[in-house]
Amino acid sequence: MRKRKSKVKMFFLSVGALVAAAVTTAAVSTVFIFTMEQASAKPEEAPAVSEVESEPAFSSAQPPKSGAAQANAKPEESPAEDDLIVLVNYAETMPEDFHRNIVNLYGVDVDERIVEPFQQMQAAAQADGVSLWISSGYRSVQRQSELFDRAVEENLGNGMGQQQAEAVAALSVARPGCSEHNTGLAIDLNGVRENFDTTPEYEWLTEHAAEYGFILRYPEDKQEITKIRFEPWHYRYVGVEHAKAMQERHFCLEEYVEYLENQR
Ligand SMILES: [Zn+2]
Repeated sequence: MRKRKSKVKMFFLSVGALVAAAVTTAAVSTVFIFTMEQASAKPEEAPAVSEVESEPAFSSAQPPKSGAAQANAKPEESPAEDDLIVLVNYAETMPEDFHRNIVNLYGVDVDERIVEPFQQMQAAAQADGVSLWISSGYRSVQRQSELFDRAVEENLGNGMGQQQAEAVAALSVARPGCSEHNTGLAIDLNGVRENFDTTPEYEWLTEHAAEYGFILRYPEDKQEITKIRFEPWHYRYVGVEHAKAMQERHFCLEEYVEYLENQR
């Protein structure tokens, strides 16, 4: 009996330790996200870049995708059966059957669906004396895996356990399949410049991008929803109809997809 009791006690102690570890991880991520948001509120103090996906040196506000509620909050079935509004973010990975056809546009890989809309947008901007160019487009999940694994290896080398190593890596490198650049529908424009939002190019895009089906994916006032800090250079193709509907309602993509879900 006594032996059994101590076994039970050991069990609860282990569970307790696991819970404590989980809570600590969650707390650390929360603090991190908060810090990131604070940082982005003051651009002059913000780190050089944000978005995660490209190189490990980049940092991001993506929380670890642990067993937290958010991971299971959404039903399995996505409302975005329309590929163009596929949601790829901290909680949603790119669907495995996602259709895309990557082609090369001016030396940058992108999905074929954005070639014409981009060229039209670029021509219209040019006519207004504004020059637009794509500095980054499609990135493979394979490439993303390499970046992520490298970060995990580093953390393991620093003495972390596997789970912690992955959670910490996810703070600075998007998990494979969690980067919108994996879809080929996202583009970074005119280089990744912190002050891009002060340029005539940005002003032009704010007014006209939706007419060509592009949206500013990580707006300054939606950071708490996107979990990505303001990225004036990152645009996402969703098609003209969706882009205009989002603009009218002042929705970011997360809000718009949820809105469509509720419409059903
Ligand atoms: Zn980007």
